[in-house]
Amino acid sequence: MAEETIFTKIINRDIPADIIYEDDKALAFKDINPQAPFHCLIIPKQPIATANDINEDNAGLVGHLYVVAAKLAAEHNFSQDGYRLVMNCNEYGGQTVYHIHLHMLAGKQMGWPPY
Ligand code: AMP
Repeated sequence: MAEETIFTKIINRDIPADIIYEDDKALAFKDINPQAPFHCLIIPKQPIATANDINEDNAGLVGHLYVVAAKLAAEHNFSQDGYRLVMNCNEYGGQTVYHIHLHMLAGKQMGWPPY
């Protein structure tokens, strides 16, 4: 079981967030430090600490995060222009919150490589 993070507090409404999507398995909210005109985080309600903890048992839940991303892209009209989905893992990946999250960035041309 992952340790409680700030994202569990957001799920439980213990701290505020700009929530833009919720269902029984996932939540999406605006990133507090946006790196693009549209930058939200899509998280599972069940805490999973890092990408290293993704396995056959929770793969459906992780896949659901991408389903939510596609829904948000359609809803916010950036399916066609495109967007970026990123999951950082551990120190070298730049992960700071140990509850997996998909960063969804949209509304501008992204660069590559991402450093
Ligand atoms: P990462 O570095 O990939 O773990 O991403 C963590 C993200 O969470 C960062 O982009 C932060 O800006 C964002 N973040 C941290 N605290 C909050 C919060 N209270 N509400 C919204 N986003 C947050």
